[in-house]
This record gives sequence, structure tokens and C-alpha cells, in this order.
Amino acid sequence: MEVQTCSRCRKFFNYIGGERICPACKEEVEKEFQKVKEYIRDNRGASVLEVARECEVSEKQIREWVREERLELSSRDGEFVCEKCGASITSGRFCDKCKNEMVDSLNSAIKKEAPKPEAPKKLRDGNKMRFLK
Ligand SMILES: [Zn+2]
Ligand SMILES: [Zn+2]
Repeated sequence: MEVQTCSRCRKFFNYIGGERICPACKEEVEKEFQKVKEYIRDNRGASVLEVARECEVSEKQIREWVREERLELSSRDGEFVCEKCGASITSGRFCDKCKNEMVDSLNSAIKKEAPKPEAPKKLRDGNKMRFLK
């Protein structure tokens, strides 16, 4: 067990892995998340700014949840763009088109890495150095 500073309240806590955040803050964040989720459910089309203001949660935190695909915003106002092609998205980091393309290239990469037929083992004995004298 190691002691870490909580990235949220700066208190020391026993770090057991995952996010560097103390149990108390973790609970707080979870509460905030539920609040935000409910707000978005009731207010479809709300912008990040609006959600942040109404739920008293930082914009940064909301953006993080969207990137983690825990939240999806229904407004396509260009607040979130695909990191690859710049298309407007509502959740995650990439648009559907780029996601599909990535899956495709991943699949073909796997195919390329298919195991090669094993090369016949060379008989090394014939290549041993010998003294000719
Ligand atoms: Zn904390
Ligand atoms: Zn894209």
C-alpha cells in the first residue's frame, strides 16, 4: 500500500490503484455523475456549459465523462469533435466512421501477423569452423 495525494482535495490517502482520488472524493464524484446523468436525461440537448452550471460540476469533469463514454450529449453543437477527422460527435473520442476504420485496420493488422509457417531447421553441423592445419 502506498500513500498518495488525492488529485481532488489534496489529502493523503492509501492508494490501492486506479484513479488518484481518495474514497471520500470518489463518492462525491459518483454523486455528481448521477446528478449530471439525471440532468441530461431530463434536459436533452443541454450543452456542457449548461450542465456544468446547473449541476455545479466542472466543465472539465463533464468533458472527461463524455470522452470516457460514460455520458453522451445529445446536442451536436461541435463541442466534441472526432480526434481523427474533426467531425462533430456526442460521446467518446472518435466518430463512428473513424471507429469502424480503426477496427478494420486493426483486423487487417491481425491478419498480417498470422503465424508464418515454420522455417525448416537448418542443420548447423556442416557449418562448424574447422582448423585446416
Ligand atoms: Zn479527496
Ligand atoms: Zn472521425
